[in-house]
This record gives sequence, structure tokens and C-alpha cells, in this order.
Amino acid sequence: MTTVLVFLDHPGASLAKSEREILSLGASLGEVVVALADEAGPAYLDGVGSYGVREYYRPETAAVSEVLVAGKAAFLAAAVRASGAGVVLLGNAYESKEIAARLGVRLEAGVITDVVALDSDLTATKSDFAGSYTVECRVTTDVSILTVKPNSFEAVEAGPPSSPREVPIPVELPLAAARVTGRVDKPVSGRPDLSEARVIVAGGRGVNGNFGPLEELADALGGAVGASRAATDAGWIEHSAQIGQTGKTVSPQLYISAGISGAIQQKAGMQTSKVIVAINKDADSPVFEIADFGIVGDLFTVLPQATDEIRKRGL
Ligand SMILES: Cc1cc2nc3c(=O)[nH]c(=O)nc-3n(C[C@H](O)[C@H](O)[C@H](O)COP(=O)(O)OP(=O)(O)OC[C@H]3O[C@@H](n4cnc5c(N)ncnc54)[C@H](O)[C@@H]3O)c2cc1C
Repeated sequence: MTTVLVFLDHPGASLAKSEREILSLGASLGEVVVALADEAGPAYLDGVGSYGVREYYRPETAAVSEVLVAGKAAFLAAAVRASGAGVVLLGNAYESKEIAARLGVRLEAGVITDVVALDSDLTATKSDFAGSYTVECRVTTDVSILTVKPNSFEAVEAGPPSSPREVPIPVELPLAAARVTGRVDKPVSGRPDLSEARVIVAGGRGVNGNFGPLEELADALGGAVGASRAATDAGWIEHSAQIGQTGKTVSPQLYISAGISGAIQQKAGMQTSKVIVAINKDADSPVFEIADFGIVGDLFTVLPQATDEIRKRGL
């Protein structure tokens, strides 16, 4: 049976949806072992165990996370050797992709990023060139390293909680030019994480600095707030909210685009959304080419009406 090593970066209080998706995918491919670079609490570990994971690897040295991606790649390489894993699954954040690339170099193994579907013979489906092509590809080396897009695989129902066994492994840390010297927790918005949200309300230059109506609608729908690069570059919202080629890739059930023109670099990050609703005052805006529903109008009129109606109906 194939051993599948799942790397869970930055464990939280409990398993995130994307982590449950990855664990479920791993379990469909073989026996799952987990690698955790950072310390995890008992509830998180019980969650991991509920997916049938009996062992998890931890670096013997706490300094692994201090040297960022280089240290994590070294740790993962040691975990692959210790477990004999034939498949390594990671998330799809930039950091995870960089760790995957470094791991590929260390193990001389093939890497596929942005995986949205995977056959049992490990043929992966992904989109390329800012979403212009859908590609099917397969790693030909003994170890396959795959980064998996959130919301692409189903998170199956977990079994009863159970505690996996910790397996500490020695890691030879690379000489790193940069080290983490301190961390500051991000303020909690109360909204879901952008890459996991089922609903996203995203704003662009048309928002003109005022994300208030978007936040109201997002809260009415239990969604997250995203943005185009024009909006993040203008400093109207934090850079972590940027969606697109150089931002986050999202695939929510519903993506509401307001005051965004739909440039190819923006599309690259959101076009796999299930339903796209676009609000733009320019009827010729390219965003309408990819929208399932288009509203030609001023977002400052349309969004509050939508929020009122949703609240009225108690949706
Ligand atoms: C290498 C590279 C990487 C990039 N990466 C990204 C990326 O990751 N993400 C990204 O988004 N962009 C990215 N860009 C930038 C991208 O090319 C566009 O410039 C950007 O997406 C435009 O943002 P926007 O649609 O908000 O602004 P604009 O193109 O200026 O569009 C604003 C829209 O708002 C509409 N509007 C104005 N006022 C209102 C109103 N009151 N109500 C309704 N509609 C209104 C206008 O009609 C217009 O269509 C990248 C560019 C490069 C070169």
C-alpha cells in the first residue's frame, strides 16, 4: 500500500476545511502519515487521528520553522525518507509551493502544483497560463509531490477522534541566510479564511477606498472579503486579500465581483468559482465574459440592496 505523507503547515486550534480535504484525499490514495513542523494542540491532533492517521512526524529541533521554507523542506525530506512515502501532499499557499519545489530538488522528485483533481494512478488535473489551459499531468519519479487547491476535493466525514503517535525525527538544517526573529498574530476579522470561504465578495478600483458595503454583504452571507490588486496596491485593504495570479487562488461556491474589470491576472485566481456574479457600471467590462450573472450598475446602489434583501429573507 502506498504511504502518503501529508504536510500540515501552521496547525490551528482544530483542523481547517482545506486540511480535512487533504487528509481525505490522502486516505483515498493509501496509508496517511502526517508531518507537522509546528506544535499542535490535543484537539488538532485528535482531528488528525480521526482520519485514520496513526503516526505524525515532528522535527527534533524546534528551529525548523525559524528558517522558513528551507527548514521545512529539509524536515519533509527527512520525513519522506523515514516513512518511505511515495506521495507527498501539501496545501497550495505560496509557502507550501516553495516548500514543494525545494523538496523536489532535495529528493530529485517531480512536483505538480495547483492540483484540482487526481486519478488513482496519480494523473493530476490543473490549469495553467493564468487559467488559459487545463492540463493533465503525472509525475514520473518514484515520489510524487503535489500541492492541492482548497475546495477541489471533498472532505469526507471523519471517524471518532484518536491520538496519533508522535515520531520525532532528526533534521539537518540548511545554512539559512534569513531567520524568523519574531511573530505577530494577525487580528481576527471573524470572517472565514479567504481560501476556504464558500462565499467571497471581492472589490476592485471601483470601490474607491470604501469596502464597507462589501463587508456588510459578506457578513450577511457569512463570507470573506477579497480584492483586486488595484485595491490592495492602493492600500484600501491588506495585501493578503488580493486574489489573482500574484495573489490567492480561490474556488468558492459564490464569488461576487464588484467594481473589478476582470483582467486576466484577476481571472486566474477566481475563475474556478462555482457561480460568479459581477457588478460593474460599464456594460462592456470584460468581467461580464466570465460572469454567470451580471449586473450593470453602481456597486454602491446594488450591494446595499442585495444585503437588505438577504437580511430580510433571513438567508
Ligand atoms: C504580473 C502582473 C500580475 C498581476 N496580478 C494580479 C492579481 O493577482 N490580481 C489582480 O486583481 N490583478 C493583478 N494584476 C493587475 C491586473 O492586470 C489589473 O490591473 C487589475 O486586476 C485591475 O484591478 P481592477 O479591476 O480593480 O481595476 P480596473 O481595471 O481599474 O477596473 C475597475 C472597474 O470598476 C468599475 N467601476 C468603477 N466604479 C464603479 C462603481 N461605482 N460601481 C461598479 N463598477 C465600478 C469600472 O467600470 C472598472 O471596470 C497583475 C498585473 C500584472 C502585470
